[in-house]
Amino acid sequence: MAGLLVEVLEPELKRLKPDYIADSRMTLDGSWTEEILKAIRSVSQRFVTPLFEAQIQRVAASTISRAEADNAEDFRDSINRAVGIDFELITRPKGMQDYLEASTAENVNLIKSIPADYFRKVETIVLGGMKGGLAPTAIAKQIQAETGVTARRAKLIARDQVSQLNSDLTRQRQVAAGLEFYKSVDAGDQRVSGNPAGKYPNAKISCYGIARKDIGHGPGVYTLADGAEWGGKTGLHPGKHHPLCRCVAIAMIPGVNYFPDKGK
Ligand SMILES: [Zn+2]
Repeated sequence: MAGLLVEVLEPELKRLKPDYIADSRMTLDGSWTEEILKAIRSVSQRFVTPLFEAQIQRVAASTISRAEADNAEDFRDSINRAVGIDFELITRPKGMQDYLEASTAENVNLIKSIPADYFRKVETIVLGGMKGGLAPTAIAKQIQAETGVTARRAKLIARDQVSQLNSDLTRQRQVAAGLEFYKSVDAGDQRVSGNPAGKYPNAKISCYGIARKDIGHGPGVYTLADGAEWGGKTGLHPGKHHPLCRCVAIAMIPGVNYFPDKGK
C-alpha cells in the first residue's frame, strides 16, 4: 500500500511543486488539489475492489483456521498431559463453526478499515503539506511516519484478535468437554498487569491479582460460566482480561488436577 503510494505520489508532488508553492504564497486555490487527490485515489481505489476484498477474506479465513487448529492441538495436549491418556477432543464443539465464520467476517471488516483510515490520513497530510508550501521530501517524510503508525496499529490489532480468538475457543472447548472450572495463569513476567514488582503495578485490571484471588474454589480458580471479576468488570476470561492480556485458562479436571472436596 505504502510502496505503491510513494511510487505514484512522488513524481506528482514534484510536478505540481511550482504550482502549489506559488499558491501557498498567494493563498490561492489552484487546480493541483484536484490533481493530487486524483493521484491518491488512483492508489486507494486498488484497495477497495472486490478482488482485494476476496484477498482479505482469504487471509482472514486462513489465519483464523490456522489459529483454530493450533488451539485444538494445544487444548488436546493440555488435557492429555493432565489426564495421562490420549483424549481425542479436537472435534469442533457445536456452534464453533458459526463462531469462526462470524470471527472471520469481523476480521475482514477490521482489515478493510486499515486502508480506508490510512488513505484518509494521507490525503490530510498531502493537502496540508501542499497548502503549507512544504517540499515534496518533507511531505513524503510525514507520510512515512503515518505508514509506521498504521503498520504498528495493524500489528497490534492482529495480535489482539488472535489472543481473543484463542481465549474464546479454549473456553468453548472446555465447556464442550463438560468442565466447570478453570485456573487463570498469568504470563509470569514484568509486563503482567498488576504485578507489584512489575511495570504496571497500578493497572485497572490486574491479571496478577485474578490469577491469585480465591473466590472459593482455590487461588485463581473460576467457573467457565462466570469468569473473574475485577475493578467493577465481570465476566473476565483469560486472554481477554484487557487488550493484549496474555493469561491462559488451565482446564481443572475434577479428580485429576482439581480436588474441590479436599479443601482445594
Ligand atoms: Zn490476563
